[in-house]
Amino acid sequence: MPGMTLPALPEEFQRVLCVVAHPDDMEYGLSSAVARWTANGIEVGYLLLTRGEAGMPNPPEETARLRLAEQQAACAAVGVEQLTVLDHPDGVLVYGLDLRRDICREIRRFKPDVVLGSNFDVDTPHGFEQADHRAAGLATLDAIRDAGNRWIFPEQVDEDLEPHSPRWYLVPGFGGPTHGVDVSGEPLRRGVASLEAHAAYLAAIPGHPAPADFIPAIAAMGGQAMGVEHAVLFRARDLHARPEF
Ligand SMILES: [Zn+2]
Repeated sequence: MPGMTLPALPEEFQRVLCVVAHPDDMEYGLSSAVARWTANGIEVGYLLLTRGEAGMPNPPEETARLRLAEQQAACAAVGVEQLTVLDHPDGVLVYGLDLRRDICREIRRFKPDVVLGSNFDVDTPHGFEQADHRAAGLATLDAIRDAGNRWIFPEQVDEDLEPHSPRWYLVPGFGGPTHGVDVSGEPLRRGVASLEAHAAYLAAIPGHPAPADFIPAIAAMGGQAMGVEHAVLFRARDLHARPEF
């Protein structure tokens, strides 16, 4: 065989819910995949667990307003119309039932077939994972199971939010990707534009490289793994598959 290439994620889905801790978490590469999906008629919603108020030197309330406005522009750049933002505390997000309950509610409301979450591993190739990202990723993983069980957070079912079991769980694929999404061309350009939409946030980070300089470089590495020009890689689990023994 002429080298192993990662398979494309089968695009047999209609609705994707992306759950992240902060404004901008989707825009460091993942939003290029979102741009491809929305261009193909797939509906994508974002659930942000915090308003990102601790992410800039400005006073928190001012930062929250500014970052939400930039997030809305980032969503528009990749065709995302459903943006839900919760007000869990930025920087000190706690893994626990509060977080699981809130994510579960959004899964039952939006009814995605795919949930895209944060990395929950401590170690990554680019350093130790940030605390909020780990909490968000683990709570999302658990909330997917919660959402399918009517006896967990049953008060939501009483509010007419029926149990719902998404099929796929995706997390960013560094350290063991299983699938890729080809984002060559227009999806990558829109992904770059979505990070550029966080202009004030990026301007407040000394020495931050221009999105057009580094987002394509990361996607090019992903592309090599998949045998295309640019790709976003995921660790993907089919939660409806029979367990293999
Ligand atoms: Zn973040």
